[in-house]
Amino acid sequence: MRLDLTALLEGRASSQEWDFTYTPDADGPLLPDDIRLTEPIAAHVAVTAHYGYLALTADASCVYETECARCLDVVSRTLTVHAERIIETDAASGGGTQRDADYEDNLLTMENGTADAQDCLTEEILLNLPMYHLCREDCPGLCPRCGKKRAEGGCTCDAKKEIDPRLAILQKLLEKPEE
Ligand SMILES: [Zn+2]
Ligand SMILES: [Zn+2]
Repeated sequence: MRLDLTALLEGRASSQEWDFTYTPDADGPLLPDDIRLTEPIAAHVAVTAHYGYLALTADASCVYETECARCLDVVSRTLTVHAERIIETDAASGGGTQRDADYEDNLLTMENGTADAQDCLTEEILLNLPMYHLCREDCPGLCPRCGKKRAEGGCTCDAKKEIDPRLAILQKLLEKPEE
């Protein structure tokens, strides 16, 4: 959703707030395939007018499902993020002043008096998503031999100490004394 900033730009309001929901689409940054939103991302955005620029603060809550990296069980999580951006409204301010990279990163472009807060929120979600998810910190994962979930006790491999016949041959070779 594009925010209509005209009231702020024309001095009819000094601050404005928006609440909206969105689902990232191909027009902007997308979430990884294994992150499935269970509901649209809920966003709250506030913009305040200053001399020569608008200050935007945005918060979003992202409710999603993904798989446990060890046992592949479904994991449900909520991630909340916060973003702050500057929208320059005075064309002259873009001139000779030296800007550092941080400042550039925090700039949001305005087009025809509107700005898009979705993409910066999605970027913030991407930055804050964990590298992987676990259903619980000590998830024992799947048995590499039978593929059953170790947490459910369905696997008795350790108890039986069965050896795959193909591996048994290897084991014999390894046990063979060197000549
Ligand atoms: Zn797990
Ligand atoms: Zn097993």
